[in-house]
Amino acid sequence: MVIRQHFDPVSSTYSYLLVDPASREAVLIDPVLGQHRRDAALIREIDARLLFTLDTHCHADHVTGAWAMKQAFGCRIGLAEVYGARNVDLPLRHGMEVRFGAQALEVRATPGHTAGCLSFVSADRGHVFTGDALLVRAVGRTDFQDGNAAQLFHSVRAQLFSLPDDCVVHPAHDYEGRTSSTIGEECRHNPRLGGAATVEDFVGYMENLGLPHPKLIAIAVPANLSCGRDATIDEPAPPSWGPVVETYAGMPEIAPEWLGRHREEVELVDVRSRAEFEGELGHLEGSKLVPLDELRVRMDELSSTRPIVLVCQTGKRSAMAATILRKAGLARVANLAGGMVRWRQLGLPS
Ligand code: FE
Repeated sequence: MVIRQHFDPVSSTYSYLLVDPASREAVLIDPVLGQHRRDAALIREIDARLLFTLDTHCHADHVTGAWAMKQAFGCRIGLAEVYGARNVDLPLRHGMEVRFGAQALEVRATPGHTAGCLSFVSADRGHVFTGDALLVRAVGRTDFQDGNAAQLFHSVRAQLFSLPDDCVVHPAHDYEGRTSSTIGEECRHNPRLGGAATVEDFVGYMENLGLPHPKLIAIAVPANLSCGRDATIDEPAPPSWGPVVETYAGMPEIAPEWLGRHREEVELVDVRSRAEFEGELGHLEGSKLVPLDELRVRMDELSSTRPIVLVCQTGKRSAMAATILRKAGLARVANLAGGMVRWRQLGLPS
C-alpha cells in the first residue's frame, strides 16, 4: 500500500492518500477543503482511481474536502453514521471494512474526542490512521462536540494499544512537525495515557489543558455535517477560457489536444532560443518568439486581451515562464503540457 501524507498548514491537518499499487484504486483520509486541488493533482498524476474519501471524524478546525473530491472524481463519501450528517454515501460503523484493490481498512470506533471518532487499521495491522483519538505524544481534546475523556481513555487502550507495537500511527494533526509514531512508542511514552497512566490521571490531565475555544468551530462543524457541500471557500474561480489544470507542482498547464482546436483564441508565446524556434522541431504557426531570458523585460509585448499559452521544447522552460507571468499578475496564463516534443508526437501541425 502506497501512503502519501499531505499537510494543511492552516489547521495543521494531515491527509493521507492510500493507493493499492496493482489496481491503482485509492482512498483519501481526512481531505481538507482548500487543499483539494493539490490532492486532486496528485491523484491524476499518479493515475490513482479515488473510490472513497474517509473522514476520521466531524472536524471542528477545518472543513472537509470530501464534497470537493466527490465533484472532481465521483468518489463516495465515508463518515461515521452516528453524526447523522448529510451527503454521506458510506455510513461507517465499528467492524466494517473499506476495500480498495487488494487493500482493506478495518473501521474501529474510537470515540472520546468526539462521539463519532473512527480509526482505520490496515489489513496487515502495519498502519493505523487514528484521527484525533491518538496523536504523536498527545490525544485530541475532549472538551467540546460530546467529547469525553474517560471514554477516549478506554477507546485508545482497547482499540489502539491492542495493535502490534510496530504498527505505525498516522495522526490527523501535529503542531510540532512530527509526522508519525508507533503503537509501542505511544504505549510507553504518551504523556497523557501511556505507561502506567490511570483513567483518573488522564481525565485530570485533559480537564486542565486550558485550551482556547477553536476559532473555526462555528463554521467548520455545520459545514462538515454536510460533508463540505455547504461550505464557501475563498479561492480564485477556475479559468473560464480553457481547461487549465493545476499540476501537483503548482503550475498551470493546458493539453496540446485542446490547443490544437483553439489556437486562434490564445496568444502563443514560444520561450526557446531563436535557433530552436527555427530548428528541426519547428514552431506553432502564429507563435511569438520571446526567449525565456528576455521575458521579464518584454512583457508589454504580450496580448492584454487573449489568454497566453507558453511553449518550449518539453514544457519545462515554459512552465518557468508561466510562473514568471503569474507572479507579474497575469491570471490567464498556461503552459503547453509536454511542449513541442509532445505536440509533434501527437502529430499536431506545427
Ligand atoms: Fe478533531
